[in-house]
Amino acid sequence: AAALDAAALRADFPLLSGRPAEDPLIYLDSAATAQRPQAVIDAEIDYLVRANAAVHRGAHMLAADATELFEDARATVAGFVGAEAEQLVWTSGATAGVNLVAYAIGNATAGRGAPAGTRFALRPGDEIVVTESEHHANLIPWQELAARTGAVLRHIPVREDGTLDLDAAADLLGPRTRIVAFPHVSNVLGIVNPVDRIVALAREAGALTVLDACQSAPHLPLDLPATGVDLAVFSGHKMLGPNAIGGLYGRADVLDALPPFLTGGSMITTVTLDQAEYLPPPQRFEAGTQPVSQAIGLAAAVRYLARVGMPAVHAHESALERRMRDGLREIPGIRLLGDAEGVDRVALASFEVEGVHAHDAGQFLDSRGIAVRVGHHCAAPLHRRFGMTASVRASAALYTTDADVDAFLDAVAGIRPFFGEV
Ligand code: PMP
Repeated sequence: AAALDAAALRADFPLLSGRPAEDPLIYLDSAATAQRPQAVIDAEIDYLVRANAAVHRGAHMLAADATELFEDARATVAGFVGAEAEQLVWTSGATAGVNLVAYAIGNATAGRGAPAGTRFALRPGDEIVVTESEHHANLIPWQELAARTGAVLRHIPVREDGTLDLDAAADLLGPRTRIVAFPHVSNVLGIVNPVDRIVALAREAGALTVLDACQSAPHLPLDLPATGVDLAVFSGHKMLGPNAIGGLYGRADVLDALPPFLTGGSMITTVTLDQAEYLPPPQRFEAGTQPVSQAIGLAAAVRYLARVGMPAVHAHESALERRMRDGLREIPGIRLLGDAEGVDRVALASFEVEGVHAHDAGQFLDSRGIAVRVGHHCAAPLHRRFGMTASVRASAALYTTDADVDAFLDAVAGIRPFFGEV
């Protein structure tokens, strides 16, 4: 991959490049939300200034233009993850995507969408499998679905080194397994999970796979159809795009058979006072007015990422990751979560500072202009598994430089001395 010049890219990100020299910002919270390049901001503004209209409806030129831009954005974002336009459903983000799937399966269980939807119907005692490393967004909707259907929620354990215990997974998955939902990359551990092996196990069991691609889509070349997963979700704001937009990718036969979750305008063919017939995907899953400028902004974001090149992004971030992890390992009193060797990772590290609460550590870093995330990062069960309630997380993106990482490491080394722990 051609090398990436992060310092030069930073000029494209007004929030980062516009900082006054006396008030620098070292932004290491990109896993929570990424900064946006000017091209994304411009794309949204340009749409609002020149083309704003209700898509898929009006008889007028402006509405036709808006519809074309909206559907072009769909094709662009779908293409970024290797998919066809019809395989991409707009959602407000990953949380909405997982809820859409879980509620649609609940509807199938209740007999909606038959006969095609029957394949998703759950019976009491059927099993939904997640991992111990789940973000709450890919956990609680499944807890709710299990509670509504009598299905049983089980989990693939995480080993001490942060990797998923696939031996345990092989034992866990079986004829009762109906759904396997798992993260491509945990937002706490940063380890790239072996999607192909999990998909193979799930297929053997005849289970539907749901991939949380939130933390991989911004950082790795991604070809969702090639992974073999049935469904996948991602969030625009983590991939240089706007808030309130994300995607649900689905295999064509899966989306075709899935009943809708939200119902209302724009997702129907014929409606009487008693019943309605639904459009095919993706419109079947897009009831109501859609986030059009956000979709156009997200298309600009993935065009930006594609122009830089995802192999180059991953190579750059891998180097940052090694620098960060090697540096943290050298600082006394730092305990890294999931410190496995020899695994592929994104540039993210979560750690505990001996004797110092994560929130104090975060405040200390903030006072030095370094933005990190503290808490359980919406993965409380994973923290519990490691015997803690909170950690400090530093996460980088394509605009992060070696100098950012070095300043961060310097500051981390100062935490325990500052709090009188050494
Ligand atoms: N899954 C993972 C792995 C995440 O990191 C996040 C965001 N922190 C989510 C799901 C939820 O994304 P959103 O809040 O954008 O819906």
